[in-house]
Amino acid sequence: MSKENLAVIVHGGAEVSSSEDDKLRIPFLKQSSDAAWETLNSGKSAEEAVVSALSVLEASEYFDAGYGGYPNQNGIVLLDVGLMRGDLKFLSLMNVRRCKFPSRLALEMFEKEADLLSIWTHQHEEWLDSQSEEKKKYFGWVATPKELIPPYLKDKIERKKALGIVSKDKVHGTVGCVVRDAQGNICSGTSTGGIGFKRNGRIGDSPIIGAGVFADNEIGGLSASGNGEAIMKTLLSQAVILEMKNTPSKNLNEILKSQLENFQTKCPNDIAGLIVIPKFGKPAFAFCAETFAVSYKTAQREETLIARR
Ligand code: ASP
Repeated sequence: MSKENLAVIVHGGAEVSSSEDDKLRIPFLKQSSDAAWETLNSGKSAEEAVVSALSVLEASEYFDAGYGGYPNQNGIVLLDVGLMRGDLKFLSLMNVRRCKFPSRLALEMFEKEADLLSIWTHQHEEWLDSQSEEKKKYFGWVATPKELIPPYLKDKIERKKALGIVSKDKVHGTVGCVVRDAQGNICSGTSTGGIGFKRNGRIGDSPIIGAGVFADNEIGGLSASGNGEAIMKTLLSQAVILEMKNTPSKNLNEILKSQLENFQTKCPNDIAGLIVIPKFGKPAFAFCAETFAVSYKTAQREETLIARR
């Protein structure tokens, strides 16, 4: 493989986004895919590229991840992240508190701790509190979970409330990234505040391997957004991955389209969006939601858009 095979795709969530919001979000999406692209071009690892993209979106107040992650029903921001590499190693963290960059935490723990799907515990928090000022800054440490709620989000929640569309299952904006490096290594990451106003302790699909995030160098990589419960119980992502595996010559857009149709038949009131990079070939995305925010880049083509149904 060569640099001709580099590929990056980023998403900023399947959701209902106004055109005003779109304008605010597009520059960050572009910056995010550029960050992954530059990281890959500089010869760094696929997982570093994914985390460089995710941390741009986690730092932005306009996405449901990191700074800007939606609070749960108790007003607390609890973040979930999943990082998986194409050699099948993964590191997922759930209910991460007081940290703007959960993807950097996952990367930090990746080499030593993978494979691991872990709840963020009191001991993890103590470990974070004991880090040097430089490290705390890198992880985006904040003293209280409330500091993760930016003014834009407070305002957005109020606006959504006024429109009557705030409920536990209608506020989205998770972020994700899939990359393929020059050697054909694939890596995927998904980072989220979860469904807005989620129940205490609720975990969605995002950190779950084969649901919100997946990578296998022999098949491809995927990151999902949408109603986590529906994505998990319909096996949406697994169905896409298995079809890619079993029928590698089948058109990827057709696979995505038919699997999203199956999803909608089973869960007509739920939404989903998927980004995928296959082992060979171009990045692809598909969604059944009002909007899906995406940015992708290959040697031949790049595009950043908020796709509308
Ligand atoms: N899938 C995420 C979850 O269920 C939410 C989202 O993508 O917006 O937690």
